[in-house]
Amino acid sequence: MSSNKYWKCYFLCETDGVLHRFPNPQHNEERFNLWMKVLDSEMQKRGVQYIYNNMRLCDQHFELWYRTPSRKLTRNAFPTLNIALYDMTQPVLILDLLVNMVPEEVLCSLEDKSVRIEIYWTWK
Ligand SMILES: [Zn+2]
Repeated sequence: MSSNKYWKCYFLCETDGVLHRFPNPQHNEERFNLWMKVLDSEMQKRGVQYIYNNMRLCDQHFELWYRTPSRKLTRNAFPTLNIALYDMTQPVLILDLLVNMVPEEVLCSLEDKSVRIEIYWTWK
């Protein structure tokens, strides 16, 4: 990924994996706000547009089930791994998120003696 020359994960991870842009705050404010929770308060003060333009998060902060085979993120993905939480209301938000989402697509596949089920969620 040549983009890594210009972008670094916000957490400065050593990675040659994919870097993910924040959700567009204009179209997806709720998700953007979830992502913003992982940023420190100084960074949050820089504002929505700055964060959207300049911040990236690498794969290491997203659960496997948020990643599609094409190395993109599902539409409900938000960072939960290897982060420092600055706002401890996050568990409430996750609950809120689950209540407000429905499965959009369920993929089943057979894998070597086990069944793999992938669920892609969407907003109600
Ligand atoms: Zn990272």
